[in-house]
Amino acid sequence: MEVETYCPYCGERISVWVDAGGGGTQRYIEDCAVCCRPIEITAHADGDGEFSVDAQRGDA
Ligand SMILES: [Zn+2]
Repeated sequence: MEVETYCPYCGERISVWVDAGGGGTQRYIEDCAVCCRPIEITAHADGDGEFSVDAQRGDA
């Protein structure tokens, strides 16, 4: 499923893909579609079939 968040580097709104069948908490790296820098994505299932996403810098 597609979830919107903001790039921690350039601040642009981006869409990231979360594997809805991948479990309650998922962490992975996804490159920003705008600035191409590696974003560390943490996705949490909220128990209602939706996911919330935290985006942090992967190079910190
Ligand atoms: Zn960016």
